[in-house]
Amino acid sequence: MATQVCIIGGGVIGLASAYALVRAGHEVTVIEARDTLGSETSFANGGQLSYRYVAPLADKGVPLQAIGWLLRGDSPLKLRPRLDPQQWRWMAAFIGACRSSVNQRNAAHLLRLATLSQGTLQQWREDDRLDGFDWRRNGKLVTFRNANTFEYARSKVTNVLQQQVLTAADCARLEPALATDGFVGGIYTPNEEVADCHAFCQRLAARLDASGRCRFVLGRKVTRIRHVEGAVQAIELGNEVMPVKQLVLAAGHRSTQLSLPGLSLPLYPLKGYSLSVPIGAQHQAPNVSITDYDRKVVYARIGEQLRVAAMVDIVGFDAGLEPKRLALIKRQALETFPQAGDYTHALEWAGMRPATPTGVPLIGASLYRNLWLNVGHGALGFTLACGSGQLLAELIGQHAPSIDMQGLTPRAA
Ligand SMILES: Cc1cc2nc3c(=O)[nH]c(=O)nc-3n(C[C@H](O)[C@H](O)[C@H](O)COP(=O)(O)OP(=O)(O)OC[C@H]3O[C@@H](n4cnc5c(N)ncnc54)[C@H](O)[C@@H]3O)c2cc1C
Repeated sequence: MATQVCIIGGGVIGLASAYALVRAGHEVTVIEARDTLGSETSFANGGQLSYRYVAPLADKGVPLQAIGWLLRGDSPLKLRPRLDPQQWRWMAAFIGACRSSVNQRNAAHLLRLATLSQGTLQQWREDDRLDGFDWRRNGKLVTFRNANTFEYARSKVTNVLQQQVLTAADCARLEPALATDGFVGGIYTPNEEVADCHAFCQRLAARLDASGRCRFVLGRKVTRIRHVEGAVQAIELGNEVMPVKQLVLAAGHRSTQLSLPGLSLPLYPLKGYSLSVPIGAQHQAPNVSITDYDRKVVYARIGEQLRVAAMVDIVGFDAGLEPKRLALIKRQALETFPQAGDYTHALEWAGMRPATPTGVPLIGASLYRNLWLNVGHGALGFTLACGSGQLLAELIGQHAPSIDMQGLTPRAA
């Protein structure tokens, strides 16, 4: 039976949810605070559909490593402590999750979701001919500068059919644009994909629009959720009240601003930066996506631009550009891919990853009967969007979910 669903948030998670719901025959309204869709954290992210590299940031040894990073001028991590209980609660829970048993358990949940996501996107591309977002299966090479981290990573490779361990010379052969000085080796995963997240959002929106089953309300911020007797009743858009039957919260890192009694979302924004470097005919840009593991910088060719993304800054809700952080990314990119593009005309961007301490998103029912969550996708929102949307549509439609929901459902979190 067709259900009327209202979604708060027109980022990649809200739009993938809308798409899956409309495909399943439901009627959807998407409310987006900005004038355009996919223009907050989903705008200029790394573009990597990194289905096999989903292990959460929280792991054994990370707090100690983080202290070392914080003492360095070229650190990929920055912490600005604030008088904000949300920040301290999040960091305490993050440290609590830094155990290898917790990391392995959460990595398994994420891998299930990522595998579903890859299959779901493939189905949408093939069945619906969804295209126009620079999708490619280009493979991903994770490169290492430090012999110890390389040894550790190669010891974790269990499936040699899916992942190949390469020497520095092999890396140079695989990706000639890479300046391999300083690298000791790499691990190549041929099945990984890349695409333009913002263009993907636009394409989903166009298809949704054409379906006649989706309405967009743009430039309107939801200011309050009204509830009565354990169910949500309506949303307020300033002075306007809009009744809702089923409501999905997919407002990224701002989801915590829509508070409801008993609903405590363990989210905090992890700020990151990107450069979009135009590629001309004279440039030598990489085709394979690269993760410079020890510097924590990712590189992906998306159409005619090189997307460089990096940094985890725990600095509150300020999404402003910090020239020092951007200058560091540019310097590192120039060292690694000196000829890849026109760095002087790079577009600079900052975004806020909506992160849970465990790295696992919250998908599904909440304490309120008709309020559904699809939040907390952190550094993997583009990778996990299609699977998360598909699961949500199945749950709202009262169908059995495609994968075991253990560890992913909000009540269990
Ligand atoms: C530097 C960087 C690099 C990244 N690289 C990758 C990558 O390579 N691969 C990957 O998979 N992921 C990557 N990510 C993560 C990914 O971008 C995010 O996980 C994803 O964009 C989150 O999507 P979202 O829809 O939850 O949030 P958003 O895209 O932020 O969407 C939420 C939307 O809700 C709207 N909204 C908020 N509050 C309200 C309200 N009250 N009323 C109405 N609307 C509201 C906002 O305006 C926004 O448009 C990266 C992130 C960063 C910052």
